[in-house]
Amino acid sequence: MWVRSGGRCALCNAYLLEGPLSSRTLNLGEMAHIVGQSTDARSPRGEHPLNPDLRDSADNLMLLCADEHAEIDAQGALNVFTVERLRRLKLEHEDRIRHVTGLGPDRTTTVVRVVGSVHGKAVELSRDAAADAVTARSRFPLFLESYSRHGVEVDLRGIPGENCAPSQSAQSAAVSSRSYYQYAARAIDEVIKNQLKAGVDRDTVRHVSVFGFARLPLLVHLGSRLDDTVPTDVYQRHRIGQSWTWPADTGPATEFTVRVDQDVPAEDEAVVVMNVSGTIAGYEIPADLAALRRYELSPVGAPTHPDILRRQASLQSLETAMRGFLASLETEASTLRRLHVLPALPMSAAVTLGRTHHPQVHPQLVIYERLAGQYVPTLEVGPATG
Ligand SMILES: [Zn+2]
Repeated sequence: MWVRSGGRCALCNAYLLEGPLSSRTLNLGEMAHIVGQSTDARSPRGEHPLNPDLRDSADNLMLLCADEHAEIDAQGALNVFTVERLRRLKLEHEDRIRHVTGLGPDRTTTVVRVVGSVHGKAVELSRDAAADAVTARSRFPLFLESYSRHGVEVDLRGIPGENCAPSQSAQSAAVSSRSYYQYAARAIDEVIKNQLKAGVDRDTVRHVSVFGFARLPLLVHLGSRLDDTVPTDVYQRHRIGQSWTWPADTGPATEFTVRVDQDVPAEDEAVVVMNVSGTIAGYEIPADLAALRRYELSPVGAPTHPDILRRQASLQSLETAMRGFLASLETEASTLRRLHVLPALPMSAAVTLGRTHHPQVHPQLVIYERLAGQYVPTLEVGPATG
């Protein structure tokens, strides 16, 4: 029973081999009977058909704290703590212990969280929510707490300019947000350099799980700062269930393709419109980009949709399309120095775009964002080349 319970209370998960006040090794666990030990009326839940010989077996005992043991056996609480309910709680706890302790050292992942607000909307991105999402993919979350109590976390919510007023003109919104983007990008750089990179260098970070909720250009920037040699899973918040957990993969993934939308020579600048979570209309393309060679990234045989990446496999096929597109530019548009990116992307795809970009071989990305109804350039990813 102790092994199955992981040394923890089956109700509150307290660790039962250490005194919380003294920090001494003490045995604080109690073995509580689910069906009472005897059929005597004074034995809680004792009036039950279970054979008295089986009542002291591990299947009928649960590991509890003293307080909870007293509470489940209290006369006034017996109709709350029924045999069925206690059995279910015991099995849930023991299942969880078995799953979590089954994840060996090679299944650890370092959790990176970046949270801002988008159009005034903020979401909950707690450590628990991130831990649940990686555990569902059979990984054990590490938070690198030795650096900071919060782990590897960038909180952009306090940065001035996070919410620009909708009444602003596109031009003034762009001007006021430029300093916001610079400041937020620096905040991301600092955490990645001081916390994550240090762990990668010391080989304590071997796998990374990224959770981002922020404006798209910042997520592309974040992706570009992650070490492409470290295996990485990118998570996103799903509208369905409002959860960060990727649903189980079933059925075929959504595929994506890039086509030439305006076939003029590339020279040193071009545009890519990424129609994934939505569709950017031709008239929304800024006038100064209108004459450039233009590419369009879009789903194959499916409409664009805010929740198009319902499954991790679809994000992987989008990543393949992005990598293939950037690689193709090296041959079909080798004179390109700057690529203007108009993104209608889910957040996980924005992080992934940044990860696929290699500043040594790919043109600089200029990431646009829709501010006050118009697409304006916000952040550059990678140096201008050539
Ligand atoms: Zn307890």
